[in-house]
Amino acid sequence: MVIGRFPESIVVIGAGMAGLVCTLELMKQGYNVRLFEATNRPGGRVYTMRDQFADGMYCEMGAAFIGAHHFLTLSYAQQAGVQLINLPVPNRRLTYINGRLIIDSPAEPARWPVSLTAEERNLGYAGILEKYLNPGLKATGNPFLPDWPTKQAIQLDSMTMEEYLKGQGASPGAIKLSEIGYMQMLGDGIRKVSALQRLLDLKMASSEGSAQTIAGGMDQLPKKLALTIGSNISYGCAATHIEHNNKGVTIQFTKSGEVFTIYCDRVIMAIPSTVLRTIHFSPPLTKEKNDAIQNQLSTSVTRTVVQSRTKFWKNLSSFTTVNTDLKIGWLYDATFTQTTSRRGLICSYSSGEAAREIARAGNLNAAVSEIKQVLPELSYNYEGAAVFSWDHNPYSRGAYAWYRPKQMIRMIPTLSAQQDSIYFAGDDTSLFPGWIEGAISSALRTVNQIIAGNSI
Ligand SMILES: Cc1cc2nc3c(=O)[nH]c(=O)nc-3n(C[C@H](O)[C@H](O)[C@H](O)COP(=O)(O)OP(=O)(O)OC[C@H]3O[C@@H](n4cnc5c(N)ncnc54)[C@H](O)[C@@H]3O)c2cc1C
Repeated sequence: MVIGRFPESIVVIGAGMAGLVCTLELMKQGYNVRLFEATNRPGGRVYTMRDQFADGMYCEMGAAFIGAHHFLTLSYAQQAGVQLINLPVPNRRLTYINGRLIIDSPAEPARWPVSLTAEERNLGYAGILEKYLNPGLKATGNPFLPDWPTKQAIQLDSMTMEEYLKGQGASPGAIKLSEIGYMQMLGDGIRKVSALQRLLDLKMASSEGSAQTIAGGMDQLPKKLALTIGSNISYGCAATHIEHNNKGVTIQFTKSGEVFTIYCDRVIMAIPSTVLRTIHFSPPLTKEKNDAIQNQLSTSVTRTVVQSRTKFWKNLSSFTTVNTDLKIGWLYDATFTQTTSRRGLICSYSSGEAAREIARAGNLNAAVSEIKQVLPELSYNYEGAAVFSWDHNPYSRGAYAWYRPKQMIRMIPTLSAQQDSIYFAGDDTSLFPGWIEGAISSALRTVNQIIAGNSI
């Protein structure tokens, strides 16, 4: 057993975006900070898969884009000096529904193969979303104002997204249409998720300006931040036990089978609740805190990536993404910013029960068959596939937090509260789980908690 001591120090656990930002900001304030990461790389759920494909191609398994209004993320991207590229805005929407590929555009509105009311048919896809979503988006209010949550926000948090849509008068056909694609990517879909969380997340996903991605892969951002932190990060160190009293905190880690212990004055747990619940705290966390950590749900996401000999889809009418009603969920060209190879990668993004099914051993072929069903030309171009399940990743045990009705407003203050010398960061403790912006805002909140209560 190795014993270390860093007097008057802060230990951060987890080198995802939250842990990296906590460490950087505390270092700037002159604290003695050490960052410990279980794996051998920084970034956590910002993970660019690089070793599975030919010609140096890569594919994002986690975070893939930054919204135009994600000001914190953009500010750290600028500090890190990474180059941003605008994502293309397709002029047509491709949807695979009831076994048919439907093309929809303002000039040629689609005839959707679902039963819609006469008004909904007139409105078309974009009009339907606008009519039914806009009142809810407005009713979420501004979570940064002191009077939040407002009565309306609390009301939205007491119903599922499906109940909200029905309350707005959406027909079953309109509900089916609206849930294909982005709306199904949170938790177990609109029938289960809190309307408040679903709508707040939609606000994060949509913005007036163009969304962006990082040239060369999203992992450039955490890698550059980690380089600034330098030798204050230790990789391959998984925290397992936290003992705390009025003298400080003792943290037990395992490193390649060896156990070692670090003493510090304060610790920041910058890891998801799904992993936090496997850590042994002595004395235990309060019952309220422990209940919130144990009960926080995490969205299942599985990505299946297919390598194709050519980018045959460049001949298709403006394919960059296709929303499907199949288990593969959303399909997109993962290599539209990668121009060095003739080859290409098509990535599918499945969530909820479909993601769990694909992740079960042996279901990769079923996912590939579905991708071929949508893009038949792939059969002649197929060169192999890779699959990645966030449920099966031991250091996230899921993709991002989701809430059933009446959980979100109640649980977030408990999840983000400090307990004695233990602080909690990570997108799970923010109002924006599933976003780097949420992870960074949680880190800045934690740094402020430390500075405000500073007696070091
Ligand atoms: C499929 C998917 C798609 C996404 N898409 C987007 C997107 O397009 N845009 C966007 O902005 N965001 C997106 N996100 C969300 C974004 O990736 C996360 O919000 C953000 O990366 C979370 O950062 P974090 O630091 O809170 O947690 P994490 O990234 O999970 O970091 C936690 C770190 O702690 C480490 N760790 C865990 N347990 C221990 C332990 N016991 N000891 C030591 N270390 C430990 C982990 O290895 C990890 O490195 C997506 C996420 C997923 C999964």
